[in-house]
Amino acid sequence: MTDLTSIHGLGPKKADILRKETSLNSIEDLFYYFPRRYLDRSITSTQELSVGQNVTLILEVKSTYLIRGRISRFTARCSLKDETSVNLLWFRPNRYIQRVIQKGEYLAASGKLTFFSGLQIAHPEFEIIDPEEEDELTCSSRLIPLYSSTQEMKKNHLDSRGLRRVFTELTKVSTFYPQEILPRTALEKHQLMDRESALKAIHFPKNEEEQKNALYRLKYEELFFFQMMMYYKSLVREKKKRSLRPLSWGKSNSYESLLKNLPFTLTSDQNNTIQKILKSCQEDSPCSFLLQGDVGSGKTVVALAVILHYTEAGIQTAFLAPTEILAQQHFITISNLVGLLGAQYVEILTGSDKKKEREMKLERIVSGEANIVIGTHSILEEGVLFRRLGLVIIDEQHRFGVKQRDAIQGKGNNPDIITMSATPIPRTLCLTEFADLELVTLKEKPKGRKPIQTMHLTEKKRQGLYTSIRNHLQKGAQCFIVYPLIEESEKIDLKAASQAYEELSSDIFPDFSIALLHGRLKKQEKEQIMNQFRNGKIHILITTTVIEVGVDIPNASVIVIEHAERFGISQLHQLRGRVGRGKNQSYCVLVSDAMNDESRARIKALVESNDGFYLAEKDLEIRGSGEILGLRQHGLSDLHLADLWKDRELAAFAYEDARLYPEISDAALEFLNRRFSQEGNICS
Ligand code: ADP
Ligand code: MG
Repeated sequence: MTDLTSIHGLGPKKADILRKETSLNSIEDLFYYFPRRYLDRSITSTQELSVGQNVTLILEVKSTYLIRGRISRFTARCSLKDETSVNLLWFRPNRYIQRVIQKGEYLAASGKLTFFSGLQIAHPEFEIIDPEEEDELTCSSRLIPLYSSTQEMKKNHLDSRGLRRVFTELTKVSTFYPQEILPRTALEKHQLMDRESALKAIHFPKNEEEQKNALYRLKYEELFFFQMMMYYKSLVREKKKRSLRPLSWGKSNSYESLLKNLPFTLTSDQNNTIQKILKSCQEDSPCSFLLQGDVGSGKTVVALAVILHYTEAGIQTAFLAPTEILAQQHFITISNLVGLLGAQYVEILTGSDKKKEREMKLERIVSGEANIVIGTHSILEEGVLFRRLGLVIIDEQHRFGVKQRDAIQGKGNNPDIITMSATPIPRTLCLTEFADLELVTLKEKPKGRKPIQTMHLTEKKRQGLYTSIRNHLQKGAQCFIVYPLIEESEKIDLKAASQAYEELSSDIFPDFSIALLHGRLKKQEKEQIMNQFRNGKIHILITTTVIEVGVDIPNASVIVIEHAERFGISQLHQLRGRVGRGKNQSYCVLVSDAMNDESRARIKALVESNDGFYLAEKDLEIRGSGEILGLRQHGLSDLHLADLWKDRELAAFAYEDARLYPEISDAALEFLNRRFSQEGNICS
C-alpha cells in the first residue's frame, strides 16, 4: 500500500501528525477525509449583495484595530475584489483572531451581512486563504473545499488551507486512486459515478451538480458495504448453535401462576408476542428480537413472561436498564411478581453498590443462585460472570450501543436476546441498522387507557396552571414537574428545578408534599424519594430528565414540562409517557415562551399526536437517524455520509443489492473489513 509520504509536499513529520490526529493511515484513507463543507466564491462584488443575507465573501484585509474597554472590539477593515469595503467585527476577540488576521491576508468570511456605518459581518466564520492558490483554483471551480483540522494539525501547516494543498497534490496523480469496489451491475443500475471520478469530485467539484453526484455515489458505497456487513452478520448468527433451551409455550408453571397473580389480564397482542418469541427460541440457532411498542404499551411484563420460561428451565437472565432508577423499578416490580411464585432469586447490580455487597452479589450470580439479574451498565463489567446465562434483555435499547449489546451477550454461550424499544423505529430503519434482529411489535395498548391530553401554555398562564394542578391533587392525582437543568445556569436565565422546589413548596403548594429528584442525589436518597412517590406519600415530584425513560407510576396523571422548547420530540414523548399509565385521564402540559420555528413545530407535533410512530418519523426528519438511534455518540454505525432515514431510498437499494451481489472482490472485502473495523473482521 502506498505510503502517505509519497504525496508531494507531505513529509514524514506532517504525515505523522496526520496519522496521529486523524488515524488516517493510507492514501486510500486520505481520499476519504472529505471536506466538511465548501465555500462558494461566486460573490465578488457588492452589487450581488443585500443586507440580512448569509454570505461568504473573499476579502483582503486592509487594516485592523482593537478598541479596549469593558467589552473590547476588534475590527478588520477589508475590501472585496471590486474595492467595496466590508468590516469584520468581533466583540471580546480571542488571541487567535488577533494573531492571524493581519493586514494583507486574504480571508473567506461567512456570516450575516448587516449595515452599521458600512457593510459589516459580526463574528464571521472565517478562513485564511492564499491568493495564489486562490487564482489557481478559481480557474477550475467556484467551490473551495474546507477541511476540519485539530489544533495540532493547525500548528503544523495542516489547517484547511494546508490540507487543500495536500489534496490538490493527491488528486493530481492517477496512480493514487484506489480501484473500483462496487459491482459493475450496481454502478450501471443506479447510474453511479465511478470511484475515481467521485473521489476527485468530492474534493474539487466543478459545480454543485458534480458534487451532488459524487456524494450520491459515495453514500451508496457506504450503505452498500454497511448492508453487506449486516448481511454477513446475520449469516454468522444463523450458523451459531444455542446451548440452552427454555421451556416451550404452555409448559411453564410459574408463568401460569404469574397470570393468576397479575392485577390485569394480558392483551391478546401481549399474548401473541410472548408466544411468538418463545416459539423462535425453540430453534437451533439463538434469536435476537427487537421488541418495540410505544411508551406504556406493557413491554416489561412480556419480557418477564418470557424470562419465566428460562428460569424454570434453570437458565439465568441478565436484564439491562439504562438508569439506576429504572433498574431499581424493574427490580421492585419483578421481585414483587415473582416473589409470589417462590424459588426465584432476583438480583440487582448497579454502580453504586458497596464493595462487600457487590462481591456477595457476584458470588450469587456466578453460582447460579440468582436467576434474574437486573442492573445498569455495571453488569457489563468483566468481573460479572454467570453460570448459565441464556437470555439477555435490554430495556430502552436506544441508550445502548452495539458494543454493549455484544458485551452482555458475550457473558453467555450464545444467549437469546430481546432488545426493547419505546422509541419506535420506522420500518426502513429496521431493514438496515436492525437487519439482524427479528422484529416484534406491540401495537395495542392495554385496555381502558385514555389518550393523554397535551397542551401548550405560556408563562402568562402559570397561575391558572397551578390552580388546575391543585384541583387534580385534591382528587388524589400525583404530578411530575420536569426541568431541563438542576441548577441556575449563569448564562441562560432558567428557573431551575431547585429554585422551583423552594417556591412551590413554601408558597404555592405548602399543604402538599413535594420532593426534588435529580441525578446528583445519592442512590439511597433517589430510592427513598421514588419509593415515597410510588406509595403516594409525595404528591409532586420536581425532577429532571432522570425520569425520562421507563419510570412507571400509574397513579401519576399530570406531567408539566418546563422549557419544553429545550427538549427534542422523542424526549418529550418519552417524558409524556410517564403519565397515562393508569385508568385516570392524564394530562401533559408543555410550558414554553421562547420558541423558534423548530421548537414550535416540535411542540405542535406533540400537542397533535400521541402516536409514537408518527412522532418518531417527524423526529427523524428533523434530526436524522444517527442522533435518534444514539449511534453517532457510540461511534458505532460507521456511517459518515449517509443517513439511514434521510437517504432511506438509497439505503433500501443498497439493502437489496448487498443480497443480490454478495460476491465481492478481494479489494472490496479488504475495504469492508477496514471501514467497519469496530465490528471486528466478520468476513473472510
Ligand atoms: P413500557 O412498554 O413503556 O415499558 P410498562 O411495561 O412499564 O410499559 O407498562 C406500563 C404499565 O402498564 C405498567 O404499570 C404495567 O403494569 C401496565 N400494564 C401492562 N400490561 C397491562 C395490561 N395488559 N393491562 C393493564 N395494564 C397493563
Ligand atoms: Mg419500559
